[in-house]
Amino acid sequence: MTKIQNFKMYINGLWVNSESGKTIETVNPENNEVWATVPEANEKDVDKAVKAAQNAFEKSWSNLHPRERAKYLRSLADQLRQNAEHLGTIETIDTGKIFRETKTQANYIAEYYDYFAGLADKVEGTVVPIDKPDMQVTTTRIPIGVVAAIIPWNSQMLLTAVKLAPALAMGNTVVIKASELAPVTLLEFAKLVEKSGIPKGVVNIITGLGEPCGKALTTHDLVERIAFTGGPETAKHIVKNSAENLSQVSLELGGKSPVVVFDDAEQENALNGITAGIFGASGQSCIAGSRLYIQSKIYDDFLNKLIAKAEKIKLGAPMDNETQMGPLNSYKQLENIEKNIKATIEQGGKIRCGGKRSNISSKAYYFPATIIECENHNLPTAENELFGPVLSVMKFETEEDVIKLMNDNKYGLSSGVYTSNFGRGLRVSKAIRAGITFVNTYRLISPMAPFGGIKDSGYGKEAGIESIKEYTRIKTTWLNSSDKPMTDPFTMG
Ligand code: NAD
Repeated sequence: MTKIQNFKMYINGLWVNSESGKTIETVNPENNEVWATVPEANEKDVDKAVKAAQNAFEKSWSNLHPRERAKYLRSLADQLRQNAEHLGTIETIDTGKIFRETKTQANYIAEYYDYFAGLADKVEGTVVPIDKPDMQVTTTRIPIGVVAAIIPWNSQMLLTAVKLAPALAMGNTVVIKASELAPVTLLEFAKLVEKSGIPKGVVNIITGLGEPCGKALTTHDLVERIAFTGGPETAKHIVKNSAENLSQVSLELGGKSPVVVFDDAEQENALNGITAGIFGASGQSCIAGSRLYIQSKIYDDFLNKLIAKAEKIKLGAPMDNETQMGPLNSYKQLENIEKNIKATIEQGGKIRCGGKRSNISSKAYYFPATIIECENHNLPTAENELFGPVLSVMKFETEEDVIKLMNDNKYGLSSGVYTSNFGRGLRVSKAIRAGITFVNTYRLISPMAPFGGIKDSGYGKEAGIESIKEYTRIKTTWLNSSDKPMTDPFTMG
């Protein structure tokens, strides 16, 4: 039996239970046993957190020089590096993602705080060449106010960093809502926020359900900016919620990212990139390359090599260093994957490897690397986001054909191209309607590289220089340099 640990939320620099005393149980996907409880925040808790953030915004944080704020961000980056192993362990228990990945990511996330610390004092204003005599008009970038950050269960440290670091650098204060499916990692992260010395109220981390907690946060009248990452259905609620407080919204949503292999591709590179793209993190990644188009000349040979590689992927306990794919996060995930695979088979899809849940554990939901050949990309596994290790494969003839096929989906987050013809790599990359295209590589992130989608994958960019401006508004100042009094507006002629 797992010993259950009880965690508290971090509001206004204090460790608190929910006002109602209610808690949420969270399970470890490795054995599906409850391992922790976290407070279940309601409207009152949300109100406390938002008011603390507003108070900190007005009284301290927004008034600090950017260099002072940068010092706190760098201190947080140091804390992350020192505690990467611990955070990685907690995230693995919380989500089922393999430890090798969560530890590496926790360490790398520090780079995001350093990057935005460096940018904090480099956001400049302008002088407008105004068409009025004696007037000097300047624009400056000012902070927006209280930011609500809504985080999904996967890649929480990264998805928090791309919101929190630019928001803090620019002088905003933040209330973060962790996912109810994996809430503990962010509460452990809150301990590092406290250790880094960031003043109380500047960062508040709460746990609760989508409703009432997420709803209360995104409709709160003191919230001015919502940064959301999650599924497209939840995003529609978020946009409706924002009509209550007219806050500015950014949405990072799902994807059904297409990948193409041309017959001139360097095959070992393509095999490795495709495998990382769809089977890394058991396919539970928003940029999973889950639709694969292989050119007809190499189709059979390349597909056979890919199947041979996928069949070797080792499923196992997420803390084990040998494991390549851990369990799925929840039964809901498994059910959705199985439902889509069944419907695809009924419509003519052919399972070439995997396809059925694994029996390596009676407690966890393990699903093997799965490859399905599809006649066309309207079959369910080829069309819908599954958030699992399932690759749908289709054949194509020409560059022109494949561009049309790749663009024929409602999402537009990521995409991949494998070819040794650089001209073609560039042409196809330009033609694909997606926020990100990887050419001869896949699944890379950096604080310097903007991340985000188009179409139903959302709007707003996270990471990169421009993203810091998404946490500012432009303020215009008119200065009258004339030494003569203004004319009386009511004196004619
Ligand atoms: P989800 O949409 O179910 O939940 C995301 C968050 O929204 C959770 O914290 C949840 O509590 C909250 N929420 C739910 N209802 C709400 C409401 N009415 N008001 C306010 N908040 C509410 O997503 P999930 O299952 O945790 O994550 C998986 C999804 O996230 C996938 O679709 C995936 O593609 C997407 N995702 C996108 C990116 C990206 O950067 N584009 C990254 C990771 C995950």
